[in-house]
Amino acid sequence: MKRCIDIPPEVERLLEELNSRGHQAYVVGGCVRDCLMGLSPADWDIATDAHPQEVKAIFGHTVDTGIAHGTVTVMRKKKGYEITTFRRDGTYSDGRHPDAVEFGTDLAADLSRRDFTVNAMAYSRREGLVDLFGGIKDLERKRIVCVGRSEDRFREDGLRIIRALRFCAQLNFSLEEECKKAMQSMAWRLQSVSKERIFSELTKILMTDHPEKIALAFSCELYPYISEGFRHIPPPQKMFIQFASSLPMEKAVRWSAFFVDTTVRNALAALKELKSDNRTIEDVKALLGNLSYRIQPEARSIKGLLYRIGPEKFDLLLSLFQMLEPEKKEWHREILEKKEQILLRREAYRIEMLAIHGGDLIKEGFKPGPEIGKLLEKSLETVMEHPEWNTKERLLSLCRPQKRDTKN
Ligand code: ATP
Ligand code: MG
Repeated sequence: MKRCIDIPPEVERLLEELNSRGHQAYVVGGCVRDCLMGLSPADWDIATDAHPQEVKAIFGHTVDTGIAHGTVTVMRKKKGYEITTFRRDGTYSDGRHPDAVEFGTDLAADLSRRDFTVNAMAYSRREGLVDLFGGIKDLERKRIVCVGRSEDRFREDGLRIIRALRFCAQLNFSLEEECKKAMQSMAWRLQSVSKERIFSELTKILMTDHPEKIALAFSCELYPYISEGFRHIPPPQKMFIQFASSLPMEKAVRWSAFFVDTTVRNALAALKELKSDNRTIEDVKALLGNLSYRIQPEARSIKGLLYRIGPEKFDLLLSLFQMLEPEKKEWHREILEKKEQILLRREAYRIEMLAIHGGDLIKEGFKPGPEIGKLLEKSLETVMEHPEWNTKERLLSLCRPQKRDTKN
């Protein structure tokens, strides 16, 4: 395990600036954890004993992103760096937020209020790594362990329960036994967490290389507290556990995979309850709604599915078919190749792709109204079988014999 952290020069300058004014300053939390794991951190968080007002005075160009919690964002070359004043642990009565934010001068106290040992390390060039709770050891053992007594920590803040799952998935870690038991006994605390936040954490779990870790929400019996609808969702089955990680990193497809063993109705109800965005709900509806489509590696069958779902979701649905029937890999590859050819040759699979439109039929003397739609549908049926017939002359001549019927 690496013990040295390469702090980017602009972050180092921020630390030095604070030090030169007589303040303590460290990089903390996720960035330390990621560096020690050899990953590149998404952002660098700084902790200091300087009060937020002092931080603002030291760095001219700042934004009050979370001033109530002691966080000031310092802008450097259009990038924001969060500098947070050391905090002491207060009391929590709502199961989510401390009753009051108390600023402190002690790094140890600040680290002790953090959620997991692997997230509770700090680093500075002067002092090296500060690991007071065995974070390094837990990184090596690949496990999520709470700082302090797990039950107390989950009772204070229910969000930590679902964060524990999310880190298991993102880091491919497992839960320490005490932590797991406390998640089970404190599962009710999830009721204090907003549905939006639960949705966002579950989505993050599904969008990792280990989406199967979502099964922990069932083995830890969290699901009744996730939402009412989750009581009707079965735990992920063998195919999901084994193959969901091969699915594209796309929100709707990952959620659909999670819901393959329930009804579309239950899936949509669960998503709505979690306040999912509408786009994901619509996409999941389209994907799950077509899961029973019996696709064949033949142009007509492929066009039928393109008609129902469009080319963007076609590949996503195929990836779900592949997860459910992994032995049919060749078959699915053939379907995708044929679909590409259909798109390249611009063969029609939608009414708008026909060489005629409603206006052409009206000019021909057809009565405006639902009959026109029916004729176009019929033309599309024909053209899906015979793409070479998609010309104006051919289609009009096919429609003409039916003119007498529509006029009366
Ligand atoms: P990510 O890669 O998702 O940003 P992160 O560890 O940086 O992971 P953040 O949500 O950005 O997570 O939080 C930064 C740090 O703040 C964490 O590493 C942890 O030390 C602390 N923290 C965040 N949320 C909580 C919480 N609910 N309870 C206790 N500590 C927390
Ligand atoms: Mg972070």
